[in-house]
Amino acid sequence: MPLLRFDNVSKRYANREALVDVSFSVEPGEMLFVTGHSGAGKSTLLRLIHLTERPSRGTVLLADRNLGKTRGRRIALHRREIGVVFQDHCLLADRSVADNVGLPLLLRGLPRADTAKRVRVMLDKVGLGDRGGALPHQLSAGEQQRVGIARAVVGEPTLLVADEPTGNLDPTLSAEILSLLESLAERGTAVLVASHDLTLVRRMRKRVLVLDNGRLVDDIAPTELAP
Ligand code: ADP
Ligand code: ADP
Repeated sequence: MPLLRFDNVSKRYANREALVDVSFSVEPGEMLFVTGHSGAGKSTLLRLIHLTERPSRGTVLLADRNLGKTRGRRIALHRREIGVVFQDHCLLADRSVADNVGLPLLLRGLPRADTAKRVRVMLDKVGLGDRGGALPHQLSAGEQQRVGIARAVVGEPTLLVADEPTGNLDPTLSAEILSLLESLAERGTAVLVASHDLTLVRRMRKRVLVLDNGRLVDDIAPTELAP
């Protein structure tokens, strides 16, 4: 059973068709990209997954739950199951790196000692084991983005969605961030990355969904990508 399924999904804002009849599915642990020019509909597609928007037509299913029908308390439960990474990682400036990463766990009531333990493991995984006590501004841009990723996955989501996670980073750091996301996918978290950077995307040799003016115009398997 696919983890995520879009079935003939369309999304219309007031006067703009942002997604038109989009269908695809994602298997557990799969890593893939969604690409396309600015305005193609990438962010809208991600918003339908973390439920900041709902489809105008069609259905979005996560593990067979119809997200368009998720209401009230279930929205918060749903958001715990997915991790979200943004271009501007949105870290709390006056809290330490460790506090930022642990926040989602404390919010859901995990005891402090357990939270601290999981934060340590997570910071090690993203290569920031010795920076837990630092404030975000004391870290480089690439390190800050790794903190954002750590915070997104500390709750062990089944799906991680990332919107232009390398948007502010140079090519070397971008490649590092994408390999970090790849290693998460290898541990079983499905990872869906929106990026307009085709060169970077192609280099990863993963499945690529191509949006053009809200339409899914291509769904490229890794084997189709020329070396
Ligand atoms: P991308 O992430 O690929 O740049 P978006 O999903 O942000 O694309 O936008 C797709 C289209 O929908 C664009 O034409 C954009 O202007 C429009 N759009 C996005 N968000 C809104 C909104 N909240 N209200 C109205 N139009 C929007
Ligand atoms: P009740 O309707 O008695 O509250 P449950 O809470 O067990 O029953 O769930 C009812 C339905 O709600 C389930 O079939 C499931 O698809 C959906 N559901 C459960 N958990 C979530 C969640 N985290 N997000 C969205 N839907 C959920």
